[in-house]
Order: sequence, then C-alpha cells, then structure tokens
Amino acid sequence: MVALTASITGWHIAHGAGFFPPLAATPHEELIATQAFLAVGSICGLVLAAALEERHRAAHEQALLADSSALLSESLDEWESLARVAHRVVPEFADGCAILLDRGDGVMTPAAVAHVDPALERWLQEQLASVPAERTQQWVLETLGPRSLLVVPLRGRERGLGQLVLFSGSPLRRSGQEARALAEELARRCALAVERAHLHREQQDAVRARDEFLTIVSHELKTPLTPLSLQLESMKRRLQAGQQVDVKAVDRVRNSLGRLVALIYDLLDSSRVASGRLPLQLAPTPLKELVQDVSASFASQSAEHPLVVEVPEEEIWVRGDGSRLEQVLANLLDNAIKYSPLGGPVRVVLQVQGEEAHMSVSDRGLGIPADQQKLLFERFFRARNVSARSYGGLGLGLYICRDIVERHGGRIWAESTPGAGSTLHVALPLLRAGDRLASTSPSTSPSTSTSTSTSTHEEPYEPPA
Ligand code: ADP
Repeated sequence: MVALTASITGWHIAHGAGFFPPLAATPHEELIATQAFLAVGSICGLVLAAALEERHRAAHEQALLADSSALLSESLDEWESLARVAHRVVPEFADGCAILLDRGDGVMTPAAVAHVDPALERWLQEQLASVPAERTQQWVLETLGPRSLLVVPLRGRERGLGQLVLFSGSPLRRSGQEARALAEELARRCALAVERAHLHREQQDAVRARDEFLTIVSHELKTPLTPLSLQLESMKRRLQAGQQVDVKAVDRVRNSLGRLVALIYDLLDSSRVASGRLPLQLAPTPLKELVQDVSASFASQSAEHPLVVEVPEEEIWVRGDGSRLEQVLANLLDNAIKYSPLGGPVRVVLQVQGEEAHMSVSDRGLGIPADQQKLLFERFFRARNVSARSYGGLGLGLYICRDIVERHGGRIWAESTPGAGSTLHVALPLLRAGDRLASTSPSTSPSTSTSTSTSTHEEPYEPPA
C-alpha cells in the first residue's frame, strides 16, 4: 500500500502534475492535500504493520499449540509428554513453566518443569514437590519474584487434574488476555492428554484384573475336578472288579461336585447382583427353623470346629426368600470354618433385638486385618492374610450376601480382631403375626421390575447329608 502510494505520487510529480492535480486548485491546497495524503499513508502503514504482526503472532500461537498437541499424542506416559510440552513453551511463551498434577488426594506433584536456566529448572523441580497446591502461586511470587505469572487449572471431566504455571522475569511475550487464552488452551490440551493416559491405564488394569480373575476362577474350578475324576476312576475300577463301592466314597464325590456347583452359582449370582437382577421369592419365613436346619447340615462337617447353636424358644418370622437366607447363613458358616485353620468353636446365635431378627456367626479364626474390614463386602475382595494357595475362594460370597440381606431391608456387618476371630452379624426386619397372615402368598421381587431372570435355585443341588 505504501509502495503503491509512493509510486503514484512519484509519477504525478515526475509529470509536473503535483500530488493531486485534479483536486488541488492552488499550491496551498495542494500542500494540505499532500500532507493529508501522507498522513493517511502512514496510518495505513501502521495498520498494515500491526495486522502483519498479529498474523505472525497468531501463526506462532498456532504452531505452539499444534506442536504441543503433537507432543502430547506421542506418548501415553503423561509425565513424559508434559515434560516435552513444558520445554516447548519455554522460552517462546515464558521463562519458566511447571505442570503440576493432582495425585488424587489433593496433593500436587510437579510432573514437568522447564526453565531457561537449567540449574534453576532442577532446583524448581525439587522445591515444587513440597509446595501445597493452594500455595503454588504465592510460592512462585515470593521465591522467584517474576514480573508475570499465570496459573491455569487443568480441568478433567469430573475433577481438577492439576495446574499449569507460567512465569517470566519480563512481561510475557503477549498481552494479558492473549496470554491467558493461550495458557488456557494449552492447559485444556494437557488435561485431555492426562485423562487419556488415565483411561489407558484403567483399561490396562481392567485387562490385568480380568486375566488374574480368569486364572483364579480356572484354578478354583479345577481344584475339585482333580479329586473328582480320581474318585470316579477308583469307583469304576471297584465296580468292574465286582467290588462294592463305599458310601463314603460317593459322599466325597458329591462333596467335590457340591464345591463346583457352589462356585458356578457364586459366579452366576455375582453377575446378577452386579446387574441388579438377583431374583428373590419373598414369603413368611421361619428363621429359627432355617438356622437349625442349616447349622445341622454343617454340624458333621468338621470335628475341629464344634458348632454351638443358640436359638430362642419361639419361632422368629421374617419376610424373606428362604433359600437365599440359607445361602447367607451357609456362606457365613463356611467362612467361619474355612478361616479358622486351627479349629475352635463356631457359634451361631439367633435372637430378637427390638424390631429386628439378629443372627450372628462367630469364630476364633484368622480375623480380618483392621484396615481391610471396610472392603469385606466388595466384589472379589480377599483379605491379605488369606493366601490363594491355602484358602480357596473367589471373594464373591459376602458380596452376594450383602445384596441378599439389603434387599430384605436388612443389614450385614462384621466385627473382627486379627488373630482372635470374627463375628459376622445379620439383622433382618421382623415379620409380626398380623403381617404374616396378610402375606401368606409368596411373591417374586426381582431388584428390577423388568427382570425376567429365574432363580438360581430352580434345580437346587443338595449337599451330602
Ligand atoms: P471367599 O471366602 O470365597 O474368598 P467371601 O466373600 O466369602 O469370599 O469372603 C471374602 C474375604 O473375606 C475372604 O477371602 C476372607 O479374606 C475374608 N473373610 C470372610 N469371612 C471371614 C472370617 N470368618 N474370618 C476371616 N476372614 C474372613
């Protein structure tokens, strides 16, 4: 534009026509017109230079953001990619850059630090590790005394992920608003990369957990199969030799089979619990009778674990699914025996407490580590004091028990002293006589009204007498 104006003007002067021959009537007017023309030309020049500068700056910003995105997508290790971004930002955008990540407990860790001075960079890395997140800004101001400082949060979809801190000894290379907009965009891209890395790690953990689970399940299913096939083989040989088969041998086969079936039921039940589709057949249920029956079936199971059963004189009624409540008690008794390797009495107590039927099973076994007791009813939970080799199990029983009890309107909890034993408690709402008469017809209560699944107890497996 300036060049064009200069050429036109030059042509006019060269041809003796002055600057504005058609417009200027007198030399005085011509002078004014010339001055106005030059002023407009300079303004145009300035505007043009500013526009060029702006284009240049925008191009740099785009390049910085594009490079950062490329660096962030190069690796799934967020620490590595954030470090590269921090070094890309310095010195173009600021003298120093720190990207702090929330460890998940509100404490920030410097994941990436870059500074124009490498010695200061190392020092900052060490120092920032001990600065609480809410003090970062203050700390940078007090310690480094920068002329410009920007602290922008890294926002995840559900929670804050960390902070992007930019500082310079001189004003940042952009105006305040532009610098903040650029820093926010950088922080947004960093946050996306951090979330992607988290997601990737979660996926890997899930795959690892699935593989571990499959290994445990296969091992658990295989364990009863080996003796089962040996026992059947020996029974076959005896029959072929015209010998009698011992009833105890048949019982052992039934035991192994029972363990297999129980494991398969546990697996089926746990997926039904997880999808909220474990069906219940609710009806007035005599709890005292149920406790006595289930306890009797356990009485002969282990000579080292004498069973003590305390029930009241009167029957105690609850509205419940009899076979599911049996499953709960059987699981508690099974655990009490299994996790008391040195033996000891197992005590079952049933009593009325206020408006509830209260059932408890106590043992003098291993107990549960205090810090793990809150996890007891979680799916696949196995305490660290029970090694998979010595104690079979999938960590599903109590998870299923909790669902059954809670869907009866009840509660289940544990008291345990490591090394001294455990007591598992179940409390269920009592069914009063009047309510019992009113609800004599059984009803089905799946946890989702649309559920069409049938009970796992359609074809109950009977354990050996
Ligand atoms: P499983 O016994 O098949 O592992 P459970 O859900 O029944 O699954 O129990 C989960 C975990 O809780 C067990 O692995 C064990 O660590 C702990 N536990 C349950 N009952 C007892 C108990 N009576 N004494 C000690 N630990 C127990």
